[in-house]
Amino acid sequence: MTQRINLVCNTCEHGITLRSGLGAQERQIIAVQCPNCKEKVGVIFTIKESEEKLGSPTINLEKCINSELRDKEDDNFTAINVHPELIYPKEMIYEKLLLSEGMASRALSEHAIENGFFDERKARGAMNDIFPGLNITSIFHGLGGDANLLKDWDIIQRCWRLKNNDKEDIYNKEVIKYTNYKSLHKNSRTFNDILFDFFYRFINPNIKLYNKLEDEFEKARKFNTQEFLKVQKCYLEDLHTINWKNYLKIFNEYFKNFDEYNRLLLNTKIELHPADGVESVFCPINFDNVDMFYGNAYENITSHIELLVLINNVIEGRDYDKFLDSSVTINKYRKKFTKESKKGPLKSNNSFNNFTLHLDSKIRNASHHRWFYVDDSNPERLMYKSGGTGALNYITYIDYIYKCNQMALSLASLIMIEIYLMEQ
Ligand SMILES: [Zn+2]
Repeated sequence: MTQRINLVCNTCEHGITLRSGLGAQERQIIAVQCPNCKEKVGVIFTIKESEEKLGSPTINLEKCINSELRDKEDDNFTAINVHPELIYPKEMIYEKLLLSEGMASRALSEHAIENGFFDERKARGAMNDIFPGLNITSIFHGLGGDANLLKDWDIIQRCWRLKNNDKEDIYNKEVIKYTNYKSLHKNSRTFNDILFDFFYRFINPNIKLYNKLEDEFEKARKFNTQEFLKVQKCYLEDLHTINWKNYLKIFNEYFKNFDEYNRLLLNTKIELHPADGVESVFCPINFDNVDMFYGNAYENITSHIELLVLINNVIEGRDYDKFLDSSVTINKYRKKFTKESKKGPLKSNNSFNNFTLHLDSKIRNASHHRWFYVDDSNPERLMYKSGGTGALNYITYIDYIYKCNQMALSLASLIMIEIYLMEQ
């Protein structure tokens, strides 16, 4: 479904017709670059699915961003195709007639089928009763899109704090609000089960991200159960409390700005980087809220992978606290290794090493030290100077958000493997 929204830019009075698709979230934000003055313009709207008529939602415009609504467009208006949850290829952005949504969804689903993320036949079977034909809604669901994630995170983070504060009675009232609660088996409704279920939904359909970690943990368990259990003990004594404080904080940061990340979440989950051949007109909604996420997530991942390092010691036939370099001790690893070098001991393990390949220390530095700023002449682009004062570098806004999503998916896999370890 495509809606037309006619706007006039408040800065330069240029007319724009947004041909906007509808995403699955209840609240949706479109922020694009004005084709004339390059300032950010856009809209925020809410959609509510009609109970009587599926597929005919009610749309309420909440706010215009740096623009005003117009009833009609004239010949000078520029048409811009956008979607809150899809990125359109360059040639589709100013397309006036064709339906970009269908074309973009097809491109996504083809990539997902080719790469084993999406079984078209299964998705058709499951969705046909509700949404006949293969449309964006069925593709969204087939690709693991989940419109309840934001709502469920709000419940989960509250439950998490209630648990930490031993408020069992309030927790019990709150936890049943989790939308997937009733689908979980009666014996699988502990807080850990719910967390695991939530993060499974979050990374779905890229379940292999987690499975590859679990395979390695299983390998260690079978190879030397005694050392494996020592890792579990070390984790519970030294790492669990601080790691979980970090997860709660970092995912609160992520879901607070989910509108920004959600625009590229489907792409990130099926590992389709939209950089090639795509020119986004998406601008940051509020870059000041997301500029430090990458750096913060990097800090968390590089300290939480200590668990993978310990498991890898077991897989490689050593005591869990003995490293390939015999001069390294756990203490030395914790205190002397820089964030960047903490993944070093994982190099010999393909699965663990692949898990860390996307970590980018340059982006981490720019994000952590707040060197990023939005390029005034092109708000789709971020600029930063290496070292804060060195050579000028650019990264597209799309690339930054894609990388942030990769970090969030990795963190989700890490908390899932920690839950697996706790349950052994
Ligand atoms: Zn303008």
